[in-house]
Amino acid sequence: MLYELLEEHKPTIWNCQVCSVCQRGPWNPYPPKGPTSDRLCPEYEKFRTLTHSALGRIQAAKWMLEGKYEPSDDFVKVVYDCLLCGACSTVGCVVDKEHVPMFRDLRTDLAKVGKGPIEPFVKTATQIEKEGNRFGRPKTERAKWAEGMNISQKADLVYFAGCVASYRAPQLAQATAKLLTHSGTEFVILGENEICCGNPLASSGQMDAFESTVKSNLEAFKEAGARQVITSCACCYNVLKFDYPQLAGNLDFEVVHITELLAKLVNEGKLKPAKPLNEKVTYHDPCHLARLGSRVIKEPRQVIASIPGIDLVEMEGNGKDTQCCGRYPVELPELSMLTGTNRIKDAETIGADTIVTACSFCDWNLNRAAKSVQSEIKVVDITQLMCQALGL
Ligand code: SF4
Ligand code: SF4
Repeated sequence: MLYELLEEHKPTIWNCQVCSVCQRGPWNPYPPKGPTSDRLCPEYEKFRTLTHSALGRIQAAKWMLEGKYEPSDDFVKVVYDCLLCGACSTVGCVVDKEHVPMFRDLRTDLAKVGKGPIEPFVKTATQIEKEGNRFGRPKTERAKWAEGMNISQKADLVYFAGCVASYRAPQLAQATAKLLTHSGTEFVILGENEICCGNPLASSGQMDAFESTVKSNLEAFKEAGARQVITSCACCYNVLKFDYPQLAGNLDFEVVHITELLAKLVNEGKLKPAKPLNEKVTYHDPCHLARLGSRVIKEPRQVIASIPGIDLVEMEGNGKDTQCCGRYPVELPELSMLTGTNRIKDAETIGADTIVTACSFCDWNLNRAAKSVQSEIKVVDITQLMCQALGL
């Protein structure tokens, strides 16, 4: 069978009503004014062709399964232009939660027949294979952020920093480490044994490379005796929590996002943010934390609300209905920038001084977007905000 994985989605594909709701959002004859009123799918927002939407891809997939369509190079590019953000799965259609798994399977099938992935994702995989990170930076520099931080040698809680915090935004990894230390939570890191979580491989259909990444990280977790793994990146969290068990069966450890742990530490009185931060703050829900299987929505808000002086306001598109930050600044830089700047505008519309997020990728991409439009809005990670309120 040519498209083996796609075949499994056949009943859903045939059930698509071609209603377009996944492409332009639910029909509202009196749409509210505002930047997100006609925005649902960031990919469609950029390219404005039906093929660049969930609906277009589903119809093409149908023709592929019927043997009526041989994917062209242009179509393969379209398949990789999707951010896999899952916004199309928030509209309650018959395809519902299957959009993203189906689009990932479509990529895997295309990779199997030698038509995918597109070049930027191939390069990312090569860098991961060579140096264990998507940037191709030296393996030996992975834990440079932790130098002088006095991190334990033995604990059953492992902090998995991820590629972005390890190489591009060490201040995020350092903020997490400071909070854990301040609350008396013992933890270890994997150091040079940590490699990319594999998200860019799994999401681009490079499954052999993904399997070897999973194997390597699981060995490192085992060697460290992990019972709990904390991530401060939503993409790492999602792939460790949902994709690893799919490949490797039940894990020996629990996967926890830093916001879940921070909420617990605040509730237990182990973190007491006392310094008032008199700012109007909005929280950007990372799509991989608020949907796509995850439902970590209330915890980050509890953490932010525990800081005195903060005025927490909500953007249009929040919680499970969040808008993507852009996600792929390396592989899809233009789409990523447009999506990020739209989110900055959302925050500006409600007069926020600061956007707080809880994912290294969101932090990176939203900072990049804010800079590009010379926005005065500040973008900070929730760990940095907490450090500020704790005077760390
Ligand atoms: S995938 Fe769902 S929302 Fe999109 S066109 Fe089909 S039925 Fe409508
Ligand atoms: S996953 Fe996101 S980018 Fe892809 S089709 Fe759905 S809404 Fe559009």
